[in-house]
Amino acid sequence: MEMTEAPETVAAVVEEVRRTQPRFGTIPNGDGTFRVIVPAEGVSEDRATAPTPEEFKQRLRTVAGTDFGVHSPRWLSRFGDATRQAERYRVGRVLLAGDAAHIHPPTGGQGLNLGVQDAFNLGWKLAATVNGRAPDGLLDSYHAERHPVGACVLANTRAQITLLGTDPGAVALRELLSRLMDFEEVNAYMTGMVTAVDVRYDFGKGHDLLGRRMCDLPLKQGRLYDLMHDGRGLLLDTTGRLSVAGWADRVDQVVDVAGGLDAPAVLLRPDGHVAWAGEDPAELLDAMARRFGAPAA
Ligand SMILES: Cc1cc2nc3c(=O)[nH]c(=O)nc-3n(C[C@H](O)[C@H](O)[C@H](O)COP(=O)(O)OP(=O)(O)OC[C@H]3O[C@@H](n4cnc5c(N)ncnc54)[C@H](O)[C@@H]3O)c2cc1C
Repeated sequence: MEMTEAPETVAAVVEEVRRTQPRFGTIPNGDGTFRVIVPAEGVSEDRATAPTPEEFKQRLRTVAGTDFGVHSPRWLSRFGDATRQAERYRVGRVLLAGDAAHIHPPTGGQGLNLGVQDAFNLGWKLAATVNGRAPDGLLDSYHAERHPVGACVLANTRAQITLLGTDPGAVALRELLSRLMDFEEVNAYMTGMVTAVDVRYDFGKGHDLLGRRMCDLPLKQGRLYDLMHDGRGLLLDTTGRLSVAGWADRVDQVVDVAGGLDAPAVLLRPDGHVAWAGEDPAELLDAMARRFGAPAA
């Protein structure tokens, strides 16, 4: 929405109100409009109906002591902090992804990323299943891999909602955590969790990269992620002694790895997670059969 109040006054009021009410806030969108979030009085009877501009202004006056002269809203909506997760992401031919599988408070801006990563995990498995090439259990690995990731987001958003509380205990906890965030390791841990770059699927014991999503590497023929747009598997091979023969219809091979790979070779799934790392050709054959199904005749 737009505001008539001067930006400096808005910033000063927001800073003051947020000392005791961290669920309140305004964020400039950079185009003269603001995102304004104000806590509701209670749970609305009909959450599908957007609040009226007058109702919104009234809540602003109650919480912030002013309505900042807000006007011309582009969009008004309600959201809550309900936290729920489907017990099973797959029942037969029915698969759940995104908010259909999990909902949680929007703190940390994780929901969209979580849902996109669900779809990314599922897409190539569905394609392999439809094409009759999926190894046993591939489709069920969707639930096994993604359900724990969803549960982690539910847990960390629950914790964030507690931290946004206004009682003295929550305030003390928030201050303590803020101080802990100054430690680099704590900061890196939290960042990895909220951005989901720390996600590591359980592919058993092995190389440190196993199960992690490969970071974007410079290759002699461009960037790694550019090579992955086709949704195929990829063998990054610095040894020049390995081969994807038998799986070349679904797995590409790049030998010109410029550097920065912490293993002699890695086999990437279409979702960029490391399915295997090492240099033993027999191990690679086994990994390709387990992840991509039987070799072509
Ligand atoms: C205030 C707020 C801020 C957020 N900020 C962030 C953020 O910064 N970063 C982030 O990653 N996430 C954020 N999220 C979360 C993110 O918006 C959701 O996780 C994401 O939009 C979920 O996408 P989805 O496609 O799974 O579901 P939805 O976006 O809900 O899409 C489902 C679609 O299906 C349609 N539909 C429903 N029933 C039917 C039917 N029977 N037939 C046909 N169509 C149907 C719906 O109309 C809807 O368009 C935020 C959420 C909120 C509420």
